[in-house]
Amino acid sequence: MTSTRLLIVGPQGSGKGTQGARIAEAFGIPVVSTGDIFRANIKEGTDLGKQVKAITDAGDLVPDEITFAIVRERLEQPDAADGFLLDGFPRNVAQVALLDEFLGGRGDALDAVIELDVPREESLQRISLRAQSEGRSDDTEAAIAHRLDIYERETAPILAVYRTREVVDTIDGVGSLDEITARIIAALEARGLARDAAA
Ligand code: AMP
Repeated sequence: MTSTRLLIVGPQGSGKGTQGARIAEAFGIPVVSTGDIFRANIKEGTDLGKQVKAITDAGDLVPDEITFAIVRERLEQPDAADGFLLDGFPRNVAQVALLDEFLGGRGDALDAVIELDVPREESLQRISLRAQSEGRSDDTEAAIAHRLDIYERETAPILAVYRTREVVDTIDGVGSLDEITARIIAALEARGLARDAAA
């Protein structure tokens, strides 16, 4: 049984949610998306949801301790024991350290970090389309621009850390959904990561 531990990184509107789901399915691993977990809690009105609603609506980052607590709880579930695809965490260098400590404690590490490369203009266009169709409460124009700024300032630097570990695959995120998925799968297979035979 092989394990595949992946992280997908890209600015909002890069398609990382869509591609992450496709890649997780192909490799037979669960997606662990902090944004989805926060949104589900907000929708259900849990204490966590109440705590993070204003922060996520403004496009700010939820404090690291709160975010890491939900990630750790999710990664400790049995279905994530043999691999997972992280989407949305880590989002800054401090969160990389928290994840390293957690995975290192189990003798694990990320096998690959997929960077979806999409120009800012294209990301902005895709998010405003999503805002029209999904009506996410954090997809206001101000929050979108703020999230992209945070990505550039806080999240892009995590790639430098992972580059030193030679685990980053930078994928051109412009093209059809199928083309982009095929590019990612080719990069992961080139690392010797095997797709799930049943998928
Ligand atoms: P996403 O769906 O990944 O864009 O996440 C939606 C929102 O959830 C973000 O704008 C943040 O407010 C919050 N969030 C998601 N992941 C994290 C994280 N790793 N650290 C802090 N805040 C996060």
